[in-house]
Amino acid sequence: MNIQESRILFEKAKKYIPGGVNSPVRAFKAVGGIPRFIERGKGARIFDADRNSYLDYVCSWGAIILGHAEAGVVSVVKNTIENGTSFGAVTALEVELAETIVNAVPGIEQVRLVNSGTEAVMSAIRLARGYTKRNRIIKFEGCYHGHADSMLIKAGSGAATFGIPDSMGIPADIAKYTTVVPYNDLEAVRQVMDDDVAAIIVEPVCGNMGVVLPQKGFLEGLREITTQYNSLLIFDEVITGFRLSYGGAQQIFGIIPDITCLGKIIGGGFPIGAYGGKREIMEYISPVGGVYQAGTLSGNPVAVQAGLVTLKSLNIIGVYDFMETHAAKLANGIQKVAKKAGIAITVNRIGSMFSVFFTDTVVTNYSMAQQSDSQRYASFFNHMLDNAIYLPPSRLEAWFIGLAHTSEDIEETIRAAEKAF
Ligand SMILES: *Cc1c(COP(=O)(O)O)cnc(C)c1O
Repeated sequence: MNIQESRILFEKAKKYIPGGVNSPVRAFKAVGGIPRFIERGKGARIFDADRNSYLDYVCSWGAIILGHAEAGVVSVVKNTIENGTSFGAVTALEVELAETIVNAVPGIEQVRLVNSGTEAVMSAIRLARGYTKRNRIIKFEGCYHGHADSMLIKAGSGAATFGIPDSMGIPADIAKYTTVVPYNDLEAVRQVMDDDVAAIIVEPVCGNMGVVLPQKGFLEGLREITTQYNSLLIFDEVITGFRLSYGGAQQIFGIIPDITCLGKIIGGGFPIGAYGGKREIMEYISPVGGVYQAGTLSGNPVAVQAGLVTLKSLNIIGVYDFMETHAAKLANGIQKVAKKAGIAITVNRIGSMFSVFFTDTVVTNYSMAQQSDSQRYASFFNHMLDNAIYLPPSRLEAWFIGLAHTSEDIEETIRAAEKAF
């Protein structure tokens, strides 16, 4: 595979951008090799600067669920841009997206739009603290909630891939208010609960240490414990929102959080985030209440329109089953060819998101995910890349299937995996 252009671009990028990237995992450090500079995408495929094409299972980390350059999104974005790209004033579109989200997500009665998942979580935490007048936050090892100070303690995603040095830039006085416990461990939660806990924040299905599912009773337990202590339960559904179902993970598991964070899919590929919850809580936000949060580009009309079209396309019967069928076929296919090759893997899957861990044990928390073989994943990743399959460049990230992936794509991917194994 000729990757000369990517090679040249990466050298130039490293000169002007730290590590050559605007988000760490893009640098391919965990898997080695030259990151591909992507020139364009269409449907389930992306094309690099050397005109190589790849079947894409990163899908902008799950944000692109309809496929790249989807016709409906492209057309509405073009039309919207013609009328101006930002006003810093109220627009009807924002209200329509808010209404759509409120009607879709069981735990959201009111919602505030922001510009990223990080911002959504940061604001949700402030709101929880303002509402409860408490300080502490409990989070889970391997869950990633964006890069705000209090959330980077033992976080997943890139923060997991790169480790957490002393020089991470977070004062101990801030870090002390975040308590981290293992995922799926209710006993550990009970041990650290007290009357100063403002909120427990959790990915209801974790997608940032690879995919790790909540065990039976885990989310129910969190709901019970937070209620008992008058703390808030925050679901970070930045990945799972509109991914696992139209109502997110909370709809599937039947657990209603106090605050929900959204991002990724709701922007249809544009920068966006949102946090919402019970009206009584949301009314603590300025200008109604005292919790201040603002944004120059919040509710940006282009992002909002792209999001609206995307959500409309997802509010159709059969859409989620369609993606799940393909995901199940791929997950099962990979398991089969791995077994044939005598390679131990564990596949964790729910709906259209899954991940492949090179290990012979179950993976139910971060330390188990970490114990999976990183060198084997790196080698697998590079073989797949050589065979035109673009996987997440870290074993601690999720693979995503969207509406553009076809049965033929899945078969091609299984054949590539068989070769790679
Ligand atoms: C991606 C992600 C975030 C951060 O969103 P950004 O838009 O990258 O800031 C937060 N929480 C979860 C669960 C995520 O997957």
